[in-house]
Amino acid sequence: MEGSLRAFARAFGGGARALIEAALPVACAACRARLTAAADLPLCAACAAAAVEAGPAFCFPCARARREPAACRRRDHARLRAGFTWNEPLRALVHAFKFGGAVELAGPLIDAVLATDGFADVAPPGAIVPAPLHRVRRRERGYDQAEALARAFALRSGAPLARALVRTRATRQQARLGAAERAANLAGAFRVVAPAEVAGRRVALVDDVVTTGATAAAAAEALVAAGAGPIEIWCVAHEPLE
Ligand SMILES: [Zn+2]
Ligand SMILES: [Zn+2]
Repeated sequence: MEGSLRAFARAFGGGARALIEAALPVACAACRARLTAAADLPLCAACAAAAVEAGPAFCFPCARARREPAACRRRDHARLRAGFTWNEPLRALVHAFKFGGAVELAGPLIDAVLATDGFADVAPPGAIVPAPLHRVRRRERGYDQAEALARAFALRSGAPLARALVRTRATRQQARLGAAERAANLAGAFRVVAPAEVAGRRVALVDDVVTTGATAAAAAEALVAAGAGPIEIWCVAHEPLE
């Protein structure tokens, strides 16, 4: 395989070679150091060592409301299951995945997430649903990162991928908004377009990163309203709620 790629690069010159090298996982996705050995994550040993596992799932609405998430048994409350805690190497890795067009990182990212203790005993859900981008933003980026991750989860778990949600508004950039503004910005931002694929099913709602959780909460609410449940939000990394 490598030989044929090299021959291709020779035949098509430096531009093609640069493209091929950019597509191969030869550099750490976080710090760009050259990888010397196969790693679990597409990260160098130093960055991989700095990745912190997020731990067991917990009730997401109760945690956001500063109630006791461990005590909650409500079926209409979505649980959050994350692979890693959001820190610098994860930020760089997810950034490369999300904005660098590195969609080929989806598989390795999900392999790393599924290898964490938090995902050790998870049964395949009835449906895996991406928290989608708005179609305008998807067109700008060329692909939808949550859908790429959801597809990787589906391939590895055997559970069906259900593109059951659409984002009905191109919401403003969340990063510039405060928590209350984010929630207002997102209320009603998702609509279930394929209720038969989620109603009465255990659903894994997939997003890349959960920070304040406003996006995931809005998407989970739309799924609950369509009769789905229980719901787990699966993400690569989450920022601990203060
Ligand atoms: Zn690194
Ligand atoms: Zn709860």
